Amino acid sequence: MTDCLFCRIIAREIPAQIVFDDDDLLVFKDINPQAPLHVLIVPKKHIATVNDLAAADDALVGSMFRRAAALAKEHGYSDRGYRTVFNCNREAGQTVFHIHLHLLAGRGLTWPPG
Ligand code: 5GP
Ligand code: ZN
Repeated sequence: MTDCLFCRIIAREIPAQIVFDDDDLLVFKDINPQAPLHVLIVPKKHIATVNDLAAADDALVGSMFRRAAALAKEHGYSDRGYRTVFNCNREAGQTVFHIHLHLLAGRGLTWPPG
């Protein structure tokens, strides 16, 4: 998907501050961080929205959450707490149509979200 921003980051056509990279996932810092730790956990496979997930993607999505937990632990937030968020479509504020799990930590996060 050459017109997809996150596919272009995955292809290294656009720079990002990468914090984790393996066969399936790329994790990089959000360009407009909303918390002291704000990274995006992105599958290398292009999937536009959570609505487009198939049963075959179950392990991939599981690996995204497990990577979030590992990164939170690495940064010392396992016990303090952290938030993981998938935004889906307009009313949730999705702006990049390649799924990504936000990992936010390092401050008190209010509920309900805005
Ligand atoms: P969404 O609103 O789709 O859930 O989240 C998209 C996120 O991507 C936003 O938090 C936004 O700050 C981030 N973002 C948008 N463009 C770029 C970019 O070029 N580089 C990086 N690292 N993050 C981006
Ligand atoms: Zn993409």
